[in-house]
Amino acid sequence: MALTEIDLHKELKRYFGFSQFKGLQEEVITSIVKGNDTFVVMPTGGGKSLCYQLPALISDGTAIVVSPLIALMKNQVDAIRSISSEHGVAHVLNSSLNKTEVARVKDDIRNGICKLLYVAPESLTKEDYVDFLKNQTISFLAVDEAHCISEWGHDFRPEYRNLRHILKRIGDNIPVIGLTATATPKVQEDILKNLGITGAKTFKASFNRPNLYYEVRPKTKNIEADITRFVKQNDGKSGIIYCLSRKKVEELAQTLQVNGIKAVPYHAGLDAKTRSKHQDMFLMEDIDVVVATIAFGMGIDKPDVRFVIHHDIPKSIESYYQETGRAGRDGGEGHCLAFYSYKDIEKLEKFMSGKPVAEQEIGHALLQEVVAYAETSVSRRKFILHYFGEEFDSETGEGASMDDNVRNPKKQHEAKEDLEL
Ligand code: ADP
Ligand code: MG
Repeated sequence: MALTEIDLHKELKRYFGFSQFKGLQEEVITSIVKGNDTFVVMPTGGGKSLCYQLPALISDGTAIVVSPLIALMKNQVDAIRSISSEHGVAHVLNSSLNKTEVARVKDDIRNGICKLLYVAPESLTKEDYVDFLKNQTISFLAVDEAHCISEWGHDFRPEYRNLRHILKRIGDNIPVIGLTATATPKVQEDILKNLGITGAKTFKASFNRPNLYYEVRPKTKNIEADITRFVKQNDGKSGIIYCLSRKKVEELAQTLQVNGIKAVPYHAGLDAKTRSKHQDMFLMEDIDVVVATIAFGMGIDKPDVRFVIHHDIPKSIESYYQETGRAGRDGGEGHCLAFYSYKDIEKLEKFMSGKPVAEQEIGHALLQEVVAYAETSVSRRKFILHYFGEEFDSETGEGASMDDNVRNPKKQHEAKEDLEL
């Protein structure tokens, strides 16, 4: 379909029921429909999925969507199926399908019914799939969570590196769309280079979250009491507390429970049933607080999380941004409180010591940024945005007063003393 014949607003309404595009969506979609290689950098919740779903739905052929998590793919496929009259409009192709199911997927692609084919990168390498896709009409390849391609990203997945190569085998001139919520200039460069789309049209939304309040406090031996007090002061509000270890998650959840706070633990060591029960309890507001490892949060969309506490400082600014970003999705108050002690940095360094040297170097560099953030006495928002390659005016910018350093400026030596506690 020629772009001039398409009324994007009408299609948006028809398929998704929305009357407005969010942020840069319309520009991105126009670029994709025109057949451009396109690169999209938008914070989590920015509406990246729609950027490739709508073009896929209105284009000829099938769009291949690469995504790292099967659970996320399944969610997306269910969501797409619920908005289209055609059940086969979206499929997941992965190793859990039996022969009959794979045949059904192939039929739907051949017949032009399947508009979105979600695949994990490792599935896409299968000869059988490549041979099949080679002979089909492919509208474009969308690489979601594209930062997985970069060693500098917070979630490096080596299989992402082969995508370009596999795509070449599927067909020439298939447009490539990369999407991510975490793009430091370095990661960005990696993505474009690795996907072979250095000439891509790039759309980058601001990462500023003006309603989030950033605070870092020194971590002392009274940390559990400090956290308990904070949670009690925020009685009845939803919050997430991140800890590094499963053991700490369990301990802290218990401490909070003993203090009359409705809290549950969440980590990968719990069985799937318990995990999903605890997650539901949080979403349904049967409990107020989830104490969790980083296993908690991917794809969780609770709009009214009022605080995110870091019992342990994360290993990179990207992780910190992602995790704190789960607060205040509805635009309301979101308090991001991190506890910091240099000892924790040393601990994280130690964890890395068994890894290959190249990885250690990257890990070290990322950690140094975390140290700089925790110890800075200037606007934390400015620091974060600068990290993502964005200018921020710490006097007039949106949300400028929303951090501890700006509200209570400290003299350098005071800040130092605090940290030595
Ligand atoms: P991201 O992948 O960037 O984190 P998602 O694609 O998951 O974001 O979208 C986040 C939320 O925004 C979803 O609930 C989605 O339905 C909603 N959304 C996307 N586009 C629009 C729009 N144009 N109008 C209203 N809501 C939208
Ligand atoms: Mg997404």
